[in-house]
Amino acid sequence: MATSDSTSRTRSHPRTRLDRPSTSLPVLIYWPYLINVVLIHMLAALVLLPALFSWTGLLLCFFGLYLFGTLGINLAFHRLLTHQSLVVPKWLERTLATLAICCLQDSPARWVAIHRQHHQHSDTDADPHSPLVNFIWGHFGWVFLENRVHNKTTNYERYCRDILRDPYYFWCERKLHWFWIYIAHALLFFGVGTLVGWLSSGDYWSGVQWGGSILVWGVFLRTVLVWHITWSVNSIGHLFGYQNYDTKDSSRNNLFCALISNGDGWHNNHHAHQRCAAHGHKWWELDVTYLTIRLLELMGLATKVVRAPL
Ligand SMILES: [Zn+2]
Ligand SMILES: [Zn+2]
Repeated sequence: MATSDSTSRTRSHPRTRLDRPSTSLPVLIYWPYLINVVLIHMLAALVLLPALFSWTGLLLCFFGLYLFGTLGINLAFHRLLTHQSLVVPKWLERTLATLAICCLQDSPARWVAIHRQHHQHSDTDADPHSPLVNFIWGHFGWVFLENRVHNKTTNYERYCRDILRDPYYFWCERKLHWFWIYIAHALLFFGVGTLVGWLSSGDYWSGVQWGGSILVWGVFLRTVLVWHITWSVNSIGHLFGYQNYDTKDSSRNNLFCALISNGDGWHNNHHAHQRCAAHGHKWWELDVTYLTIRLLELMGLATKVVRAPL
């Protein structure tokens, strides 16, 4: 994606209202997304059961936000695959992308395609999820309705041909393999949790209870939290906050969003300089994802890191 050059200044871009994308009409429910999102939210609500609480589950949830959300979604899907802000060895790229797949935000190719489309058409009719339609639409309303361009081969060719050239990402795309990776990692959490609980307590049912705790906290609640963090960048990040750059769209830098997303909430900076590995452009705009990239660079695992313009 091309990097746009914008003049740095603090300004407030005028907002306009948008209608829902014409490609989302007529209204057709996208059942796979609706069922999964509702189901995982319901399963995540099981954390309210005291019997399913464990400190290990809570820690796994917290640590998982960084492991799967920051390393997976931010670093791999967003900065690495979509914007090519850095280069890492192939084994590491695929490992990080697999962490992102464990966030149940669709396949690498489809995630990249939709996000590149968002950048190319930000806050216009062709933007898949502009919150200028309304907040709910920008946050997750767009997920539940069919957008007829997203499944078209021409869309894949236009926005993610480079991703599908990789045999692993192509395999993920076929026969919903990416979805089964998510299911497999959930089963792994449950299985290992049950085994550890069983061995440490000597009681099988205590083991199953502990495995359940690891599953609902470490997988379902974490999945829901990472969803809402990603969606917040799309919704809050185009409505509330300040702009360092005149990007002609409604993208904003939002402190709350930036903190919960570990850096992706500096969204106006990102829209202005899409390929920059750093999304925080001022010294106080903390970007944990970029700090991770710097660490990878120091370890010799990241090269060709695209620098922020000064
Ligand atoms: Zn982006
Ligand atoms: Zn955006």
